[in-house]
Amino acid sequence: MRSTLPRFTISSLYRLETDDAELARAQFRTFSKQMPLLYCILVFNAGAIMWDFYNPEKLFETFLFPLAMCAVALVRSFWWFRQGDGSHFSDKEIAHYITRTCGLAVIMTFSFELWCMWIYKSGSIYARGHLTFFLALTTVSTVFCLMAIRAAAMRVAVTSTIGFISYFSWVDDGMMLVPAVVLAFVSFGMIVVTYRYNQDFSELVQSQRDLKTRQIETEKLSEENRQIALTDALSGLPNRRQFLTYLDGLENQTDPTANSLAIIFIDLDGFKKTNDSHGHQAGDILIRELSERLQNICPPYAKLARVGGDEFAIVIESVDAADQSFALAAKIHEAIGLPVLVDRYVLQVGASVGIAINAEEPLRPQELLRRADTAMYHAKMSGKGGTALYDAAFDKGRIQRLTIEDEIGQGLDRGEFDVFYQPVVDANSGTIVGAEALIRWPRRPAGELQPSEFIEIAEATGQIHPLGLFVLEDACESFKCFDNIQLSVNVSPVQFRDPAFEQQVETIIARTGFPAERLQLEITEGYLLTDPERAISAIQNFKSMGMSIALDDFGTGFTSIHYLQSYGFSHIKIDKSLLDGLGPDTRASLLITGATYLASGLDMEVIAEGVETEDQAALLRLAGCHKLQGFWFGKPMALDDFRTALIDSDTMNESAFAFQTVPTNANALA
Ligand code: C2E
Ligand code: MG
Ligand code: MG
Repeated sequence: MRSTLPRFTISSLYRLETDDAELARAQFRTFSKQMPLLYCILVFNAGAIMWDFYNPEKLFETFLFPLAMCAVALVRSFWWFRQGDGSHFSDKEIAHYITRTCGLAVIMTFSFELWCMWIYKSGSIYARGHLTFFLALTTVSTVFCLMAIRAAAMRVAVTSTIGFISYFSWVDDGMMLVPAVVLAFVSFGMIVVTYRYNQDFSELVQSQRDLKTRQIETEKLSEENRQIALTDALSGLPNRRQFLTYLDGLENQTDPTANSLAIIFIDLDGFKKTNDSHGHQAGDILIRELSERLQNICPPYAKLARVGGDEFAIVIESVDAADQSFALAAKIHEAIGLPVLVDRYVLQVGASVGIAINAEEPLRPQELLRRADTAMYHAKMSGKGGTALYDAAFDKGRIQRLTIEDEIGQGLDRGEFDVFYQPVVDANSGTIVGAEALIRWPRRPAGELQPSEFIEIAEATGQIHPLGLFVLEDACESFKCFDNIQLSVNVSPVQFRDPAFEQQVETIIARTGFPAERLQLEITEGYLLTDPERAISAIQNFKSMGMSIALDDFGTGFTSIHYLQSYGFSHIKIDKSLLDGLGPDTRASLLITGATYLASGLDMEVIAEGVETEDQAALLRLAGCHKLQGFWFGKPMALDDFRTALIDSDTMNESAFAFQTVPTNANALA
């Protein structure tokens, strides 16, 4: 902050101020350079006067006294010469030396003047003229040398001028009055110049100080900006940029020995869902908490960074980086898997971890990071929650996935997809009462892929939206003509989450003219748990449009039937995995019987899928299942084949459904 200069008063001219340490130091720096010169001038002038006035009879005043004065001046000159800019002095010492100089300057000048007056009369006219000249010169040069310390300069100027004028206006019968008056004017001029110089000097120091303060502030600000640019604001951890810079730094100094460097790449599992269902604020709290946990388990030789929304990376520099990274990965799973309490919710996510090590060859750290990322991706694709060590084969898998991503987009544009229909039969009559629409990709140039190989990719990229709507529209259009046949269409959780989805379905229903009562949407259990509120509202909306909603793959999750009813499901599709080991009096049949019994009691129909044998069909009917679906009744087929199957079903020989004669009591198997 700029301080205002003191108001001008006569007394302020002589007041010595050393409170402003910075100003005092600057003054010291300036005048200390002049001091040796000042003393030398004094010595030369004294020497010149001694030369003129030397008188062996008056040895003391013409030789010994000035000699002593010159000796003192030379010692002082040497002392000042050695002090340099005074940076080694404390503020207190600087103030002390300024005060001392102020006093000494007056004493020395006055002593010199008194000496001159003392010997003046003993000299010739010529010598007296010289003396006056040297004395005036000494006064002027002393004032100029002390200009930086206004008080000293002023005091010297005033005391020596007063002494000079008083003496020389009187001595030699007033012969020296003119030089005395001239010196008085010169002194006045010097006082003005000194005052102005001093003011400018103070302003200069002040502006230098302002400049320095501003520079410090700017440096602080740019350091803060640098820190902000390199730090993740949410977690306080180094961000991706800092991490990459750090890796660049490692590149030059990395020890090429094997196993000396490892990178762990961490991606949270289920973070997006948590974020979507509990809000970004909850997501932020979760990230902060998990970042802290990771920070706590990281050893000192590991550097942790948040390199993406839900991604972290750790670089380990250690002689046994491989062992260290696996041990740390285990701790990471443990730390991240622990629940986090946010408000009244308990949030829990997992982590997929990828590790890359410079095991055989010296690798660039950036390449290690890429490999760790690829390994993480592999861990994620292999079921999440695991750790994978990079393998060259992973690159191929990733490239293949990226290729499929591109192909899905092109396939939609080029009409490479079809919809197949798998019959759903009535468990009692065996006649086809419905069909499940299942997507197929028969015209993919690189060869057909199964839904299990591309649906998940389409979900991850968002391509499931156009793909799902294509299936829905195609199926509604195709099934318009089949009276009384129920149509089931799979809906991905990604589609269900989209607030625009209800409107899109309504538009398709309106456009195709398909009766909403014949349309059933199938969703999987996982979605319900992540976003119950949104699921309930969407289900209600679809039901109010006349559609029914089935829970697909029941039995693969943990939800109780009673809990499901609160969502408003009208159908439950028992997953084919539950049919494994199905036989009379087996655990599987007990389970299915119990589930079916409960669901029926809650007004939900049960459809068993994956029925492959006649025995399975018979047992499921006995267990009380209302509808059956599986290869035993028909594989997913093209629309024309389905039409034929439908005609066949209507005219079917009853013998094909021998199990129909078995009673349909749900307790029959139990
Ligand atoms: P899902 O909805 O549970 O469909 C039933 C799957 O089981 C189908 O596989 C079907 O071919 C198969 N399946 C039916 N009966 C049997 C049987 O007796 N034995 C065996 N081993 N399998 C049987 P698909 O067509 O490969 O579809 C797999 C999954 O892909 C579907 O499971 C569904 O989750 C998804 N999917 C298929 N089409 C679509 C679609 O259009 N949209 C969405 N979002 N997902 C779809
Ligand atoms: Mg299904
Ligand atoms: Mg299923």
